[in-house]
Amino acid sequence: MRVLFLISLFVCLVATIGSGHSNARPPVRYRLIYSAPGSTSVHVRIDLSSEATTPRTLLIPRAIPMCYSEEPYDQFVSNVAAFEAAGKSLPVARAEGPRWSLGAAARVDYEVDLARMEQAIQSATDSSRERPDYVSLLGYSVFGFFEGAEELPIELKVEGPKGWPVFSTLAPAGGALHAENFYALADSQIIFGPGLRVARVHYARENDAPLTLAYYSEVPVDQARLERLSAEAMAAMTEYFDGPSAPPFSHYTVFLEFLKPVSKDHSYGFGMEHLESFHAAMAATDADPTAFSDARLRYHIAHHIAHAWIPKRCYGEGYYPFIWDHAFRIDTIWFSEGFAQYAAIVALAASSAAGGQNEEQHRQEMLERRFRSVLRDSPPDLRHMPLRELSVFASTQYTADFRIGQLTFSRGGLMAAEMDDRIRAETHGQKSLRDALRHLIAWSAQNHREFRIEDLPVRFHEATGVETKDILENWLAPLP
Ligand SMILES: [Zn+2]
Repeated sequence: MRVLFLISLFVCLVATIGSGHSNARPPVRYRLIYSAPGSTSVHVRIDLSSEATTPRTLLIPRAIPMCYSEEPYDQFVSNVAAFEAAGKSLPVARAEGPRWSLGAAARVDYEVDLARMEQAIQSATDSSRERPDYVSLLGYSVFGFFEGAEELPIELKVEGPKGWPVFSTLAPAGGALHAENFYALADSQIIFGPGLRVARVHYARENDAPLTLAYYSEVPVDQARLERLSAEAMAAMTEYFDGPSAPPFSHYTVFLEFLKPVSKDHSYGFGMEHLESFHAAMAATDADPTAFSDARLRYHIAHHIAHAWIPKRCYGEGYYPFIWDHAFRIDTIWFSEGFAQYAAIVALAASSAAGGQNEEQHRQEMLERRFRSVLRDSPPDLRHMPLRELSVFASTQYTADFRIGQLTFSRGGLMAAEMDDRIRAETHGQKSLRDALRHLIAWSAQNHREFRIEDLPVRFHEATGVETKDILENWLAPLP
Protein backbone atom coordinates (compact mmCIF):
# COMPACT_ATOMS: atom_id res chain seq x y z
CA MET A 1 0.00 0.00 0.00
CA ARG A 2 2.75 2.40 0.90
CA VAL A 3 5.23 3.72 -1.52
CA LEU A 4 8.45 5.01 -0.14
CA PHE A 5 10.08 7.18 -2.64
CA LEU A 6 13.32 8.63 -1.55
CA ILE A 7 13.78 10.95 -4.42
CA SER A 8 17.10 9.95 -5.74
CA LEU A 9 19.78 11.96 -7.35
CA PHE A 10 20.79 15.50 -7.19
CA VAL A 11 17.85 17.46 -8.39
CA CYS A 12 17.77 20.64 -10.33
CA LEU A 13 14.21 21.74 -10.74
CA VAL A 14 12.85 24.53 -12.80
CA ALA A 15 9.31 25.31 -13.75
CA THR A 16 6.77 27.80 -14.69
CA ILE A 17 3.52 28.45 -12.96
CA GLY A 18 0.68 26.22 -13.95
CA SER A 19 -1.89 28.98 -13.99
CA GLY A 20 -2.36 30.85 -17.22
CA HIS A 21 -1.71 34.37 -16.01
CA SER A 22 1.94 33.59 -15.35
CA ASN A 23 2.54 33.80 -19.07
CA ALA A 24 1.59 37.45 -19.04
CA ARG A 25 4.15 38.50 -16.45
CA PRO A 26 7.84 37.61 -16.53
CA PRO A 27 8.69 35.51 -13.48
CA VAL A 28 11.20 36.30 -10.78
CA ARG A 29 13.86 33.60 -10.82
CA TYR A 30 15.02 32.29 -7.45
CA ARG A 31 17.98 30.00 -7.06
CA LEU A 32 18.85 28.29 -3.80
CA ILE A 33 22.18 26.52 -3.37
CA TYR A 34 23.24 24.30 -0.49
CA SER A 35 26.72 23.43 -1.61
CA ALA A 36 28.07 20.57 0.51
CA PRO A 37 27.10 18.27 3.39
CA GLY A 38 28.06 19.95 6.65
CA SER A 39 27.79 23.47 5.27
CA THR A 40 26.05 25.72 7.80
CA SER A 41 24.64 28.23 5.30
CA VAL A 42 22.63 28.46 2.09
CA HIS A 43 23.10 30.80 -0.82
CA VAL A 44 20.11 32.57 -2.37
CA ARG A 45 19.99 34.44 -5.68
CA ILE A 46 17.01 36.48 -6.83
CA ASP A 47 16.91 37.54 -10.45
CA LEU A 48 14.33 39.97 -11.82
CA SER A 49 13.73 39.60 -15.50
CA SER A 50 13.55 43.34 -16.00
CA GLU A 51 16.24 46.00 -16.11
CA ALA A 52 15.95 48.38 -13.14
CA THR A 53 15.72 52.12 -13.65
CA THR A 54 15.03 53.07 -10.03
CA PRO A 55 16.64 51.99 -6.76
CA ARG A 56 15.43 48.68 -5.37
CA THR A 57 15.12 47.30 -1.88
CA LEU A 58 15.57 43.75 -0.59
CA LEU A 59 13.28 42.77 2.28
CA ILE A 60 13.76 39.66 4.42
CA PRO A 61 10.65 38.59 6.37
CA ARG A 62 10.34 39.10 10.10
CA ALA A 63 6.67 38.13 10.26
CA ILE A 64 5.38 34.59 9.65
CA PRO A 65 1.91 34.09 8.18
CA MET A 66 -0.45 32.84 10.94
CA CYS A 67 2.35 32.59 13.49
CA TYR A 68 1.27 35.75 15.35
CA SER A 69 4.82 36.62 16.33
CA GLU A 70 8.04 37.85 14.76
CA GLU A 71 11.41 36.24 14.13
CA PRO A 72 14.48 38.27 13.10
CA TYR A 73 15.37 36.31 9.95
CA ASP A 74 17.26 39.33 8.56
CA GLN A 75 19.85 38.88 11.34
CA PHE A 76 21.09 35.66 9.75
CA VAL A 77 21.60 37.18 6.30
CA SER A 78 25.09 38.23 5.20
CA ASN A 79 27.18 38.95 2.10
CA VAL A 80 24.35 40.78 0.34
CA ALA A 81 25.55 41.64 -3.16
CA ALA A 82 23.59 43.49 -5.86
CA PHE A 83 24.18 43.60 -9.60
CA GLU A 84 22.90 45.40 -12.65
CA ALA A 85 21.44 43.29 -15.45
CA ALA A 86 24.78 43.51 -17.29
CA GLY A 87 26.52 42.09 -14.24
CA LYS A 88 28.11 45.27 -12.85
CA SER A 89 28.35 45.22 -9.07
CA LEU A 90 26.38 47.85 -7.10
CA PRO A 91 26.94 49.27 -3.63
CA VAL A 92 24.63 47.80 -0.97
CA ALA A 93 23.56 49.52 2.24
CA ARG A 94 21.60 48.29 5.24
CA ALA A 95 18.27 50.20 5.44
CA GLU A 96 15.41 50.50 7.95
CA GLY A 97 14.00 47.35 9.49
CA PRO A 98 14.75 44.10 7.63
CA ARG A 99 15.82 45.92 4.45
CA TRP A 100 18.84 46.49 2.22
CA SER A 101 19.13 49.28 -0.36
CA LEU A 102 20.45 47.76 -3.57
CA GLY A 103 20.61 50.57 -6.09
CA ALA A 104 19.09 49.91 -9.53
CA ALA A 105 19.68 46.17 -9.16
CA ALA A 106 18.36 43.40 -11.38
CA ARG A 107 19.88 40.67 -9.20
CA VAL A 108 20.75 40.14 -5.57
CA ASP A 109 22.77 37.38 -3.89
CA TYR A 110 23.07 36.63 -0.18
CA GLU A 111 23.89 33.94 2.36
CA VAL A 112 21.71 32.70 5.21
CA ASP A 113 23.42 31.26 8.30
CA LEU A 114 21.32 28.23 9.28
CA ALA A 115 23.39 27.26 12.30
CA ARG A 116 23.07 30.69 13.86
CA MET A 117 19.35 30.77 13.06
CA GLU A 118 18.70 27.49 14.85
CA GLN A 119 20.70 28.61 17.88
CA ALA A 120 19.01 32.00 18.11
CA ILE A 121 15.38 31.06 17.41
CA GLN A 122 14.13 29.12 20.39
CA SER A 123 10.76 28.21 18.94
CA ALA A 124 12.03 25.26 16.91
CA THR A 125 9.10 25.23 14.49
CA ASP A 126 10.08 28.75 13.32
CA SER A 127 13.61 27.78 12.36
CA SER A 128 15.36 26.17 9.41
CA ARG A 129 18.15 23.73 10.27
CA GLU A 130 21.02 21.66 8.92
CA ARG A 131 22.43 18.29 9.99
CA PRO A 132 25.23 16.22 8.39
CA ASP A 133 22.63 14.22 6.43
CA TYR A 134 19.73 16.65 6.29
CA VAL A 135 18.62 20.24 5.67
CA SER A 136 15.16 21.78 6.14
CA LEU A 137 14.34 25.27 4.94
CA LEU A 138 11.22 27.26 5.74
CA GLY A 139 10.51 29.54 2.80
CA TYR A 140 10.01 32.70 4.85
CA SER A 141 13.21 32.12 6.83
CA VAL A 142 15.51 32.10 3.79
CA PHE A 143 13.74 33.88 0.94
CA GLY A 144 13.48 37.64 0.69
CA PHE A 145 12.00 39.70 -2.12
CA PHE A 146 12.40 42.91 -4.07
CA GLU A 147 9.90 45.29 -2.50
CA GLY A 148 7.07 45.88 -4.94
CA ALA A 149 7.61 42.56 -6.76
CA GLU A 150 5.71 40.40 -4.23
CA GLU A 151 2.92 39.51 -6.63
CA LEU A 152 5.08 38.41 -9.56
CA PRO A 153 5.15 34.68 -10.33
CA ILE A 154 8.25 32.80 -9.27
CA GLU A 155 10.45 30.09 -10.76
CA LEU A 156 12.62 28.27 -8.26
CA LYS A 157 15.72 26.23 -8.88
CA VAL A 158 17.24 24.24 -6.00
CA GLU A 159 20.74 22.78 -5.95
CA GLY A 160 21.93 20.43 -3.25
CA PRO A 161 25.03 18.31 -2.70
CA LYS A 162 25.55 15.61 -5.31
CA GLY A 163 23.38 12.58 -4.63
CA TRP A 164 21.12 14.33 -2.12
CA PRO A 165 17.38 13.98 -2.71
CA VAL A 166 15.47 17.29 -2.79
CA PHE A 167 11.84 17.67 -1.75
CA SER A 168 9.68 20.77 -2.04
CA THR A 169 6.12 21.16 -0.81
CA LEU A 170 5.54 23.14 -4.03
CA ALA A 171 5.78 19.89 -6.03
CA PRO A 172 5.70 16.83 -3.73
CA ALA A 173 5.71 14.40 -6.65
CA GLY A 174 8.86 16.03 -8.02
CA GLY A 175 9.34 18.06 -11.17
CA ALA A 176 9.05 21.75 -11.75
CA LEU A 177 9.04 24.26 -8.89
CA HIS A 178 6.92 27.33 -9.22
CA ALA A 179 4.99 29.67 -6.97
CA GLU A 180 2.14 31.96 -7.81
CA ASN A 181 3.73 34.84 -5.90
CA PHE A 182 6.14 35.51 -3.06
CA TYR A 183 3.58 34.47 -0.44
CA ALA A 184 3.30 31.00 -1.98
CA LEU A 185 7.10 30.65 -2.11
CA ALA A 186 7.57 31.89 1.45
CA ASP A 187 4.82 29.56 2.65
CA SER A 188 6.55 26.48 1.18
CA GLN A 189 9.29 24.25 2.60
CA ILE A 190 12.35 22.73 0.96
CA ILE A 191 13.83 19.64 2.57
CA PHE A 192 16.78 17.56 1.47
CA GLY A 193 19.43 15.03 2.31
CA PRO A 194 19.71 11.26 2.74
CA GLY A 195 18.20 11.55 6.24
CA LEU A 196 14.86 12.68 4.79
CA ARG A 197 12.03 10.17 4.42
CA VAL A 198 9.17 10.72 2.00
CA ALA A 199 6.08 8.54 1.52
CA ARG A 200 2.90 8.82 -0.50
CA VAL A 201 0.02 8.38 1.95
CA HIS A 202 -3.20 6.69 0.92
CA TYR A 203 -6.61 8.02 1.94
CA ALA A 204 -10.09 8.25 0.46
CA ARG A 205 -9.64 11.44 -1.58
CA GLU A 206 -6.06 10.92 -2.68
CA ASN A 207 -6.92 11.22 -6.35
CA ASP A 208 -8.23 14.76 -5.77
CA ALA A 209 -5.36 15.86 -3.54
CA PRO A 210 -2.41 13.47 -3.12
CA LEU A 211 -1.11 13.39 0.44
CA THR A 212 2.61 13.10 1.19
CA LEU A 213 4.36 12.45 4.48
CA ALA A 214 7.86 13.91 4.76
CA TYR A 215 9.79 13.44 7.98
CA TYR A 216 13.18 13.48 9.61
CA SER A 217 13.80 11.90 12.97
CA GLU A 218 16.82 11.76 15.26
CA VAL A 219 15.29 8.78 17.07
CA PRO A 220 13.53 5.65 15.78
CA VAL A 221 9.96 6.46 14.74
CA ASP A 222 7.10 4.33 13.43
CA GLN A 223 6.56 5.52 9.85
CA ALA A 224 3.43 3.40 9.32
CA ARG A 225 1.86 5.10 12.34
CA LEU A 226 2.70 8.59 11.02
CA GLU A 227 1.15 7.65 7.67
CA ARG A 228 -1.99 6.24 9.29
CA LEU A 229 -2.57 9.28 11.52
CA SER A 230 -1.93 11.69 8.62
CA ALA A 231 -4.38 9.76 6.44
CA GLU A 232 -7.07 9.73 9.13
CA ALA A 233 -6.66 13.45 9.79
CA MET A 234 -6.78 14.36 6.10
CA ALA A 235 -9.78 12.11 5.38
CA ALA A 236 -11.72 13.65 8.27
CA MET A 237 -10.95 17.26 7.29
CA THR A 238 -11.68 16.91 3.57
CA GLU A 239 -14.97 15.21 4.45
CA TYR A 240 -15.85 18.02 6.87
CA PHE A 241 -15.02 20.99 4.66
CA ASP A 242 -15.58 19.61 1.16
CA GLY A 243 -17.83 16.57 1.33
CA PRO A 244 -17.92 15.25 -2.22
CA SER A 245 -16.33 18.41 -3.71
CA ALA A 246 -12.64 18.68 -4.50
CA PRO A 247 -10.30 20.14 -1.83
CA PRO A 248 -8.99 23.67 -2.51
CA PHE A 249 -5.39 22.42 -2.85
CA SER A 250 -4.04 20.09 -5.54
CA HIS A 251 -1.66 18.29 -3.15
CA TYR A 252 -0.79 18.39 0.53
CA THR A 253 2.26 17.52 2.63
CA VAL A 254 2.53 16.63 6.32
CA PHE A 255 6.12 17.46 7.27
CA LEU A 256 7.30 16.35 10.72
CA GLU A 257 10.66 16.56 12.45
CA PHE A 258 11.56 14.72 15.67
CA LEU A 259 14.59 16.49 17.10
CA LYS A 260 16.90 16.26 20.06
CA PRO A 261 16.77 19.64 21.82
CA VAL A 262 19.42 22.15 20.77
CA SER A 263 19.32 23.66 24.28
CA LYS A 264 17.10 23.58 27.33
CA ASP A 265 15.65 26.93 26.25
CA HIS A 266 14.48 25.66 22.86
CA SER A 267 10.84 24.64 22.65
CA TYR A 268 9.37 21.96 20.39
CA GLY A 269 5.91 20.82 19.39
CA PHE A 270 4.15 23.84 17.95
CA GLY A 271 2.73 23.33 14.47
CA MET A 272 2.57 25.76 11.56
CA GLU A 273 -0.03 25.68 8.82
CA HIS A 274 0.61 26.48 5.18
CA LEU A 275 -1.41 26.64 1.95
CA GLU A 276 -0.39 23.12 0.93
CA SER A 277 1.39 21.73 3.97
CA PHE A 278 1.67 21.48 7.72
CA HIS A 279 5.01 21.39 9.46
CA ALA A 280 6.03 20.84 13.07
CA ALA A 281 9.37 20.53 14.81
CA MET A 282 8.54 18.00 17.51
CA ALA A 283 10.80 16.90 20.36
CA ALA A 284 12.53 13.55 19.85
CA THR A 285 10.60 12.22 22.85
CA ASP A 286 7.33 12.95 20.98
CA ALA A 287 8.12 10.08 18.58
CA ASP A 288 7.10 7.73 21.42
CA PRO A 289 3.33 7.01 21.29
CA THR A 290 3.21 6.68 25.07
CA ALA A 291 4.50 10.28 25.36
CA PHE A 292 2.47 11.73 22.46
CA SER A 293 -0.59 9.52 21.93
CA ASP A 294 -2.27 8.63 18.64
CA ALA A 295 -5.29 10.77 19.53
CA ARG A 296 -3.11 13.77 20.34
CA LEU A 297 -0.95 13.53 17.23
CA ARG A 298 -3.99 12.87 14.99
CA TYR A 299 -5.64 16.00 16.40
CA HIS A 300 -2.41 18.00 16.03
CA ILE A 301 -2.30 17.11 12.33
CA ALA A 302 -6.06 17.55 11.73
CA HIS A 303 -6.10 20.93 13.47
CA HIS A 304 -3.38 22.23 11.17
CA ILE A 305 -4.89 20.68 8.05
CA ALA A 306 -8.11 22.54 8.99
CA HIS A 307 -6.14 25.78 8.70
CA ALA A 308 -5.74 25.13 4.95
CA TRP A 309 -9.39 26.24 4.79
CA ILE A 310 -9.51 28.56 7.83
CA PRO A 311 -7.76 31.01 7.78
CA LYS A 312 -5.60 30.26 4.73
CA ARG A 313 -8.58 30.48 2.37
CA CYS A 314 -11.27 32.04 4.57
CA TYR A 315 -10.14 34.89 6.80
CA GLY A 316 -10.82 38.18 8.50
CA GLU A 317 -9.01 41.48 8.00
CA GLY A 318 -5.22 41.59 8.11
CA TYR A 319 -4.33 38.18 6.63
CA TYR A 320 -3.90 39.32 3.02
CA PRO A 321 -2.01 41.02 1.54
CA PHE A 322 0.49 39.88 4.13
CA ILE A 323 2.81 42.37 5.85
CA TRP A 324 6.25 40.74 5.98
CA ASP A 325 8.27 43.18 8.05
CA HIS A 326 6.26 43.05 11.27
CA ALA A 327 3.39 41.07 12.79
CA PHE A 328 0.13 42.76 11.80
CA ARG A 329 -2.71 43.39 14.27
CA ILE A 330 -5.51 40.90 13.59
CA ASP A 331 -8.83 40.92 15.49
CA THR A 332 -10.21 37.59 14.21
CA ILE A 333 -7.68 35.07 15.56
CA TRP A 334 -10.50 33.68 17.73
CA PHE A 335 -12.22 32.70 14.46
CA SER A 336 -9.10 31.45 12.65
CA GLU A 337 -7.97 29.31 15.58
CA GLY A 338 -11.19 28.60 17.46
CA PHE A 339 -13.40 27.69 14.51
CA ALA A 340 -10.65 25.68 12.77
CA GLN A 341 -9.93 23.71 15.92
CA TYR A 342 -13.63 23.18 16.53
CA ALA A 343 -13.95 21.87 12.96
CA ALA A 344 -11.11 19.42 13.64
CA ILE A 345 -12.77 18.25 16.86
CA VAL A 346 -16.12 17.60 15.16
CA ALA A 347 -14.54 16.09 12.05
CA LEU A 348 -12.50 13.59 14.07
CA ALA A 349 -15.43 12.81 16.38
CA ALA A 350 -17.53 11.94 13.34
CA SER A 351 -14.82 9.80 11.73
CA SER A 352 -13.99 6.22 12.50
CA ALA A 353 -10.69 7.54 13.89
CA ALA A 354 -12.56 8.33 17.11
CA GLY A 355 -12.01 4.66 17.93
CA GLY A 356 -15.63 3.65 18.33
CA GLN A 357 -16.23 6.24 21.02
CA ASN A 358 -19.62 7.90 21.00
CA GLU A 359 -19.46 10.98 18.73
CA GLU A 360 -21.04 13.41 21.20
CA GLN A 361 -18.99 12.07 24.08
CA HIS A 362 -15.81 12.55 22.04
CA ARG A 363 -16.83 16.12 21.16
CA GLN A 364 -17.61 17.01 24.76
CA GLU A 365 -14.34 15.55 26.02
CA MET A 366 -12.36 17.60 23.51
CA LEU A 367 -14.31 20.80 24.24
CA GLU A 368 -13.52 20.30 27.90
CA ARG A 369 -9.84 19.57 27.34
CA ARG A 370 -9.11 22.15 24.65
CA PHE A 371 -11.41 25.06 25.56
CA ARG A 372 -13.42 24.91 28.80
CA SER A 373 -10.46 24.05 31.02
CA VAL A 374 -8.56 27.01 29.54
CA LEU A 375 -11.42 29.38 30.35
CA ARG A 376 -11.59 28.16 33.94
CA ASP A 377 -7.88 28.69 34.51
CA SER A 378 -7.54 32.01 32.68
CA PRO A 379 -6.26 35.11 34.49
CA PRO A 380 -8.82 37.92 35.12
CA ASP A 381 -6.92 40.57 33.11
CA LEU A 382 -7.24 38.43 29.97
CA ARG A 383 -10.81 37.30 30.72
CA HIS A 384 -11.98 40.90 31.00
CA MET A 385 -10.64 41.89 27.59
CA PRO A 386 -13.20 42.03 24.77
CA LEU A 387 -12.39 39.18 22.39
CA ARG A 388 -11.35 41.38 19.47
CA GLU A 389 -8.94 43.23 21.75
CA LEU A 390 -7.54 39.95 23.09
CA SER A 391 -7.03 38.82 19.48
CA VAL A 392 -5.07 41.98 18.64
CA PHE A 393 -2.95 41.32 21.72
CA ALA A 394 -2.47 37.71 20.53
CA SER A 395 -1.32 38.98 17.09
CA THR A 396 2.20 39.33 18.52
CA GLN A 397 1.98 37.37 21.80
CA TYR A 398 0.16 34.19 20.74
CA THR A 399 2.90 31.75 21.71
CA ALA A 400 5.17 34.10 23.65
CA ASP A 401 2.67 33.76 26.51
CA PHE A 402 0.50 30.84 25.43
CA ARG A 403 -2.20 31.76 27.96
CA ILE A 404 -3.03 34.58 25.52
CA GLY A 405 -3.17 32.28 22.49
CA GLN A 406 -5.10 29.61 24.35
CA LEU A 407 -7.75 31.95 25.70
CA THR A 408 -8.19 33.50 22.24
CA PHE A 409 -8.86 30.16 20.54
CA SER A 410 -10.86 28.76 23.46
CA ARG A 411 -13.37 31.62 23.39
CA GLY A 412 -13.67 31.22 19.60
CA GLY A 413 -13.99 27.46 19.87
CA LEU A 414 -16.79 27.67 22.43
CA MET A 415 -18.54 30.28 20.29
CA ALA A 416 -18.39 27.80 17.39
CA ALA A 417 -19.74 25.00 19.60
CA GLU A 418 -22.68 27.10 20.79
CA MET A 419 -23.53 28.13 17.21
CA ASP A 420 -23.29 24.50 16.11
CA ASP A 421 -25.62 23.36 18.90
CA ARG A 422 -28.23 25.96 18.00
CA ILE A 423 -28.09 25.27 14.26
CA ARG A 424 -28.48 21.52 14.86
CA ALA A 425 -31.34 22.05 17.32
CA GLU A 426 -33.32 24.54 15.23
CA THR A 427 -32.95 22.55 12.01
CA HIS A 428 -33.66 19.24 13.78
CA GLY A 429 -30.26 17.95 12.76
CA GLN A 430 -30.69 18.83 9.09
CA LYS A 431 -27.93 21.49 9.21
CA SER A 432 -24.89 22.20 11.33
CA LEU A 433 -22.08 24.73 11.63
CA ARG A 434 -20.35 22.70 8.93
CA ASP A 435 -22.88 24.00 6.37
CA ALA A 436 -22.33 27.56 7.59
CA LEU A 437 -18.54 27.23 7.28
CA ARG A 438 -18.71 25.58 3.85
CA HIS A 439 -20.85 28.50 2.70
CA LEU A 440 -18.46 31.08 4.15
CA ILE A 441 -15.47 29.33 2.54
CA ALA A 442 -17.27 29.32 -0.84
CA TRP A 443 -18.09 33.02 -0.35
CA SER A 444 -14.39 33.74 0.36
CA ALA A 445 -13.25 31.83 -2.74
CA GLN A 446 -15.76 33.70 -4.86
CA ASN A 447 -15.06 37.18 -3.49
CA HIS A 448 -11.29 36.89 -2.92
CA ARG A 449 -11.47 39.03 0.15
CA GLU A 450 -11.74 39.03 3.91
CA PHE A 451 -15.06 38.80 5.72
CA ARG A 452 -16.17 41.45 8.20
CA ILE A 453 -16.96 40.13 11.67
CA GLU A 454 -20.48 41.57 11.62
CA ASP A 455 -21.19 39.68 8.38
CA LEU A 456 -20.50 36.24 9.86
CA PRO A 457 -24.08 35.76 11.18
CA VAL A 458 -25.40 36.96 7.81
CA ARG A 459 -23.41 34.30 5.93
CA PHE A 460 -24.34 31.65 8.50
CA HIS A 461 -28.04 32.56 8.23
CA GLU A 462 -27.88 32.30 4.43
CA ALA A 463 -26.57 28.76 4.79
CA THR A 464 -28.74 27.49 7.63
CA GLY A 465 -31.66 29.86 8.23
CA VAL A 466 -30.55 30.10 11.87
CA GLU A 467 -29.74 33.35 13.71
CA THR A 468 -26.37 33.39 15.50
CA LYS A 469 -25.77 37.13 15.95
CA ASP A 470 -26.49 37.10 19.71
CA ILE A 471 -24.04 34.20 20.22
CA LEU A 472 -21.35 36.13 18.34
CA GLU A 473 -21.91 39.29 20.39
CA ASN A 474 -22.00 37.37 23.63
CA TRP A 475 -18.62 35.75 23.02
CA LEU A 476 -17.04 38.97 21.70
CA ALA A 477 -17.86 40.65 25.04
CA PRO A 478 -15.57 40.37 28.09
CA LEU A 479 -16.07 37.14 30.06
CA PRO A 480 -17.88 37.49 33.40
ZN1 LIG B 1 -4.01 26.50 14.97
